[in-house]
Amino acid sequence: MSLLREPILALSRSDRVRDALVRTPVTRGVVERYVPGETTADAVRVAGELAADGLHVTLDHLGEDTLDVAQSWATVDAYHELLTALADEGLAHRAEVSVKLTALGLALPDDGPQLALEQAQRICRAARRAGTTVTIDMESHAVTDATLMIVHELRRDFPETGAVLQSYLHRTVSDCRTLAHEDSRVRLCKGAYAEPDDVAHTDPEDIARAYVRCLKILMAGAGYPMVATHDPRLIEIASALAARHGRRPGTYEFQMLYGIRPDEQRRLAERGETVRVYVPYGAQWYGYLMRRLAERPSNLTLFARSLVSTR
Ligand SMILES: Cc1cc2nc3c(=O)[nH]c(=O)nc-3n(C[C@H](O)[C@H](O)[C@H](O)COP(=O)(O)OP(=O)(O)OC[C@H]3O[C@@H](n4cnc5c(N)ncnc54)[C@H](O)[C@@H]3O)c2cc1C
Repeated sequence: MSLLREPILALSRSDRVRDALVRTPVTRGVVERYVPGETTADAVRVAGELAADGLHVTLDHLGEDTLDVAQSWATVDAYHELLTALADEGLAHRAEVSVKLTALGLALPDDGPQLALEQAQRICRAARRAGTTVTIDMESHAVTDATLMIVHELRRDFPETGAVLQSYLHRTVSDCRTLAHEDSRVRLCKGAYAEPDDVAHTDPEDIARAYVRCLKILMAGAGYPMVATHDPRLIEIASALAARHGRRPGTYEFQMLYGIRPDEQRRLAERGETVRVYVPYGAQWYGYLMRRLAERPSNLTLFARSLVSTR
C-alpha cells in the first residue's frame, strides 16, 4: 500500500485543513476531475449526459460526519430536491442515489442512529415516489454495525435499498453470506478508509483476494451484486463468475466512480453490461477528494498546483 495513503487519509479528518481548502471552487483542476459540480442542476446535467451514453448513475450529495441536526435536515432537503429533479427530467429509471448515514447524523450522541434511520426513511420514501432507489454507502468500521442495522430496518419497508460491503474488513465474507439473499442489492467495494489491521486487511493483494472470496458468494447467491471496482483483474473475474453462475447482464452490475476509467465504463456498457457511475456533487468535497488522492497520490502534486493557481 502506498506510503502516502495513511497521511493523506489522516488529513481527510483534519477540520483545519478542510476549512482552509473548501473555499476553493469545484471548477479547479483535480477537484473537477472527481466532482463534476456543486448544485442539483450540475448533478442532473451530468446524470443526463451519462444516461445518453448508455450508463446508469448513482448520485451522492457530498457531506459526512455531521454532528449538527440542522445539517442533517439540509441533507434530506438536498436529496428531496435532487429526486424531484430526476423525476421531472425523466431520469429516475437511470439514476438512483447514494447516501452516507453520518451526513444524516448517525454519529450524534444518544439518538444519532434513530435520527439517521428516520432521515434515511424520508429519503427512501422520496426515492420510491420518484421511481428510483437508495443505496446506503459504507463508512469507517466504527459505524459498520450501526449502518448494517439501519439498512436492515430500511429494508422492512423499502426492500430495494442497497447495502455496501468493503472487502478489506475481516468480517465481510460473513456479511456477504448474510446479505446474498433474494432481492438484496449489495455493492461490493475494496474500502476507502484508514483501518487498523485488527479489523481490516492492509495489503493490497490480501484485499483483492478477499474481494474475490466475497464476489464468489454474492455471484452464487440469489441477490443483485453491484461490482464496484476499477481493478481490471477483478472486473474480469466478476465477468467469469457471472457467466459460471448463468447470470445475464441486468442480474448484476458494474459500478465505477465519476472521472475514473471512463473509457472502461463505456466499453463495458457497449458490451451489454449494466454500468453505473457514482457521481458525487456538492460543496463538501473535501473528505471524498482526500480518499481519491490517497488512492492516487500522484494526483497530490496536481491538486497542490491547482490550489496555488486559485489564490
Ligand atoms: C461505485 C463505487 C462506490 C463506492 N462506494 C464506497 C463506499 O460506500 N465505501 C467505501 O469505503 N468505499 C467505496 N468505494 C471506494 C472503494 O472502496 C475503493 O476505495 C476505490 O474504488 C478504489 O479501489 P479499486 O477497487 O478501484 O482498486 P484500486 O486497486 O485502488 O484501483 C484499480 C485501478 O483503478 C484506477 N484508480 C483507482 N482509484 C483511482 C483514483 N483515485 N484516481 C485515478 N485512478 C484510480 C487505477 O487505474 C488503478 O490502478 C466505492 C467505489 C466505487 C467504484
